[in-house]
Amino acid sequence: MRIYVETYGCWLNKADSMIMITLLLRRGYNIVSRIDDADIVILNTCAVRGDSEIRQLKRMRELYSKYPDKIFIIAGCLAKVRISEIRKIFEGKCIIVGPNDVENIDKIIDTALRGERKIFLSEDRPMTVLPDHIPELTRHIYVVPVQVGCLCSCTFCVTKYARDVRGKVKSYPIDIIVENVKKAISKGAREIYLTGQDVACYGYDRGYTLVDLLEKLLSSIDRDDIFVRIGMSEPEAFSKIANQVIDIVKRDHRIFKYFHLPVQSGSDKILRLMRRRYTVDEYRELVRKIRREIPNATVVTDMIVGFPGETEEDFELSLELIRELEFDKVHVARFSPRPFTEAEVMKDQVPDSVKKARSRKMVEIANEVSLKRNLAYIGKICRGIVSSVDQKGQGVVVRLENYKPTIVKNVNEELVSAIVDVHVRDATPINLLGDIKNIVVEPIRMSRIVRICEELVEDAS
Ligand code: SF4
Repeated sequence: MRIYVETYGCWLNKADSMIMITLLLRRGYNIVSRIDDADIVILNTCAVRGDSEIRQLKRMRELYSKYPDKIFIIAGCLAKVRISEIRKIFEGKCIIVGPNDVENIDKIIDTALRGERKIFLSEDRPMTVLPDHIPELTRHIYVVPVQVGCLCSCTFCVTKYARDVRGKVKSYPIDIIVENVKKAISKGAREIYLTGQDVACYGYDRGYTLVDLLEKLLSSIDRDDIFVRIGMSEPEAFSKIANQVIDIVKRDHRIFKYFHLPVQSGSDKILRLMRRRYTVDEYRELVRKIRREIPNATVVTDMIVGFPGETEEDFELSLELIRELEFDKVHVARFSPRPFTEAEVMKDQVPDSVKKARSRKMVEIANEVSLKRNLAYIGKICRGIVSSVDQKGQGVVVRLENYKPTIVKNVNEELVSAIVDVHVRDATPINLLGDIKNIVVEPIRMSRIVRICEELVEDAS
């Protein structure tokens, strides 16, 4: 049986796809990279944004009309949020698999092969299966989901509903994570991405924290040629462990000096309407602490423009915060009213034209700020890992020790996974440009690479 997997959304969703692929390969199924060749099609969906939802539903209609005889499995957050719409598209002939059911995909396919077309929406997640590292699919990058759920209830967030678990947070046991990361490294992994819905609340359900996981992981790996990236962290939960995490990042060069802390707005009024659990001042202090302790740290954030009730003054406060804290990257999103959220029905909805103008303005400011930061790298020699092939096919992308992307042209993909020193020659708001000065650690030799189809949301890294 041949199976095709298409993934939408964040790194946690990608990790869920790798869990499904892991279980299916263990059962002897073949994973194919072309939908024509597949008997079963799995779409692992994302519910975060309205415009992406429209694209995914359109994709489903196209696929079902072109391949009515294939078995369709619709998984992920949108599968839970839009059950009836999706079942209607497939005339009831698709299987719905919620985010909590990915660890049962092999048994779910057994039901499909018996001709059943059921809906699987478990209220809880077993947290027993982690993805294998499959170099043919992900080269030297191992994405490991460490937790699901979060401790917040932001009024705009549909993920909270889609990925709801008993007890709010579910974490994989430290030992299982360490064991799987070590196995992945022994199979050629060199970049380890710790991902989750809110990595900062890892271990909340098990009486330990992200700090314990990082300490255990780093003390268990006697390799120097690896890089670990800490995934997205909700600022309030992160502030509780900030000092310890910053210490570890300063102490161990194997952790990317990279922090992804979504602030969402620069206005306290809007943060309250969003039910975020920090003030602008508290957030400011958190970023200042990181910058003080690790001056070349990369700080990335997310901003929502056009949240209900956002005035020009509120918006200006968000722009001001970007200028003041000088983020290396800002993911700018226009407020998208999502089902099962309070914000969807809030009064004072902002017109689309205003959202559009504000997001354009914010991207402009964010680019000015990130360019200013990137220009400071010109002339420097920086260490990094050749992380991927450049999507424009110009060369490769080297991720520096602070995860900053550096394009190196006219270098072939054989060098992917090598650790190199780069001489930075130029900068744009999005990335640096440079030449490889020397190869510090040779690349991992890969047998063959299979591409699986992915639609990335702005590379949610
Ligand atoms: S922290 Fe807020 S935005 Fe993030 S997953 Fe939880 S409820 Fe959603």
